[in-house]
Amino acid sequence: MNFHTSLIHRFENEGTQFAYVTSSAAVVQLDQVSTGILDSFSDPEGEDPARWLESLDKELQQETREAFDELAAMGILRPVGAPNAPPEQLPPMPFPLSTLVLNVTNKCNLSCTYCYEYGEDRIAEPKKPDGTPRLPMMTPETACKSIDFLFESSQGRSGVSITFFGGETLLNFKTIRAATEHALERSRELGRSVGFSLTTNATLLTDQVIDFLVEHRFGINVSIDGNRLDHDRHRTFSSGKGSYDAILPRIRKLLEKNRPHGRPIGARVTLTRGMAPVPETFHHLAGEIGFDSVGFAPVTSAEDHEYALGEGHLGQILLGFEDLAGEYVEAALRGERHAFSNLHDLLQEIHQGINKAHPCGAGLGLLGVSTEGELGLCHRFVESGEHALGNIEDGIDEEKRSEFLAKTHISKKIACHECFARPHCSGGCYHEAHVRYADATQPNLHYCEWIRAWTDLGLRCYGKIACGNPDFLETFNQATHPPKVATVKDEVTP
Ligand code: SF4
Ligand code: SF4
Repeated sequence: MNFHTSLIHRFENEGTQFAYVTSSAAVVQLDQVSTGILDSFSDPEGEDPARWLESLDKELQQETREAFDELAAMGILRPVGAPNAPPEQLPPMPFPLSTLVLNVTNKCNLSCTYCYEYGEDRIAEPKKPDGTPRLPMMTPETACKSIDFLFESSQGRSGVSITFFGGETLLNFKTIRAATEHALERSRELGRSVGFSLTTNATLLTDQVIDFLVEHRFGINVSIDGNRLDHDRHRTFSSGKGSYDAILPRIRKLLEKNRPHGRPIGARVTLTRGMAPVPETFHHLAGEIGFDSVGFAPVTSAEDHEYALGEGHLGQILLGFEDLAGEYVEAALRGERHAFSNLHDLLQEIHQGINKAHPCGAGLGLLGVSTEGELGLCHRFVESGEHALGNIEDGIDEEKRSEFLAKTHISKKIACHECFARPHCSGGCYHEAHVRYADATQPNLHYCEWIRAWTDLGLRCYGKIACGNPDFLETFNQATHPPKVATVKDEVTP
C-alpha cells in the first residue's frame, strides 16, 4: 500500500523545519530524518514504504522505520486514498452556553457609514412580524432575566461571560449597571464566576461610567479607526462631524484610570478602503494613545460599497500585518509583550492546538439576545425572524439550533476539506456568509487566499518564537488581551 503526506503545511525558520498538521492542528518540529521522509512521500501518488525503506542504506533503515511509524501515528503520513475530510463529530446537544451577548440597545449616537446595523447588509428586521416597532432599549428586567437564563443554560461550567453590545452600548448604561449588579449577586449565590465585557464608540465615557467599568473589571474594546483623518472619514455624528476629537480625551481618561487595576483595553479598527498603512495606524493607537492592544477587522460588506476592500487592498493590509508581525516577534524574542492582538490571538490558537469544527461560538456556547429577549445566533443575528433561536422566557429552540450546527459543521463544507487552514477558519463568519451569499451556512470562499496567507504568517512567527525564545510561548496559556465579542475578523480573519 502506498503512503503519502496528509494535509499538512510545511514552514521553516532558519533551517529548522516544521509541519502544521491540519487533522490535529498540531505544530511538529521535524528532524533531518523526518524531513527526508516527508520529502520522499510528498507526491500525491505516494510511495510504497517497504520498498522505499529497502532502498536506503542498511544502517539507516531502523531509525527511518521508527520515524516513519511515528509520522504515520501522528497522521502526517497516511495511505493514498484515505480521506482528508474531518470527522463528522457533532457537539453534544444541548450544548451548555458560556456567553450571552446582550444587545442593550439598537440605537446609536453615531452614523458610521459602514455600520451593518443601519446599512443594507442589516439582518435585523426593523419591525416585528405583527408590524409593531421593536423596542430600542433593553429594560433592566429583560437584562436580569437574560442573566438568569444564562446561568440556567450553562450548567457544568464554572463561570459565564456577559458581553454588552449595541448600537452604542453606553446609551443604555442604566441597564448595563443593573445587569452587572444582578449577575454579581447571582454568581455569589451560585458560587460561580462571571466576567463582563463591552464594545463602545467611547463618546459616552463619563467619569461615572469609567469608574464603574474599571471597578467591575470590564474587558473593553473601543471602536476607533486610527488617526483623526481615517477615523472621521466614516465614524461621524449624524451632522457629518467626525467623532475623533470628542472621544480622544475620554479614551485617555479611561486608559489612565484603568491602568493600575483593570484588564487590558483594546482598540478595534475597522479597515476600509483608503486608510493609512496598518503599521501607522497601529503606532498611533498603541504608541501615541496608549491602547493595551490593537486589533484590525476588515469591513464586512458587499463588494460594491465605496469603502469595501478589494483583493489589492487585502494584499496591502497583509504586507502591513507582516511588518507588525516582525515587530511582534522581535519583542517576543526579548520576552516582551506587543500589542498587535490579531497575531497574539492567532499564536494563542496555534499554541493551544485549537481545531475548530465551527468557525466561532455563535449558536454553540454563545447566543445573542435582542432588546426584547429574543435569542439569535450572535449579536449580528438578533431581531431576524429567519435566524431566531427562541427567547429567554421559553428557552432555546434546540431543534433549529442543532439543525444549524449540523449544517455548518466543517465536515459539511466540502470546499474546505483540502484546506490546511481549516482548523482556524472552519469556513468563516456566518454573518459575512449571509451578506455575501444570502446563506449563513456557506463557507466564505471569497477570502481563502487571504486566510491561508495569514495562517502561514502566524505559523512562521510561531516557528521563530519556538526556536528563539520558547519560554515566551507559555504566555499563550493565559488570556492577556481583552476578551471580545467575536467578529468575523477577530475570530476568523486577521
Ligand atoms: S473558507 Fe477557505 S480558507 Fe476557510 S477553511 Fe474553507 S477553504 Fe479554507
Ligand atoms: S464570527 Fe460572525 S457569526 Fe461568529 S460571532 Fe462573530 S459576527 Fe457572529
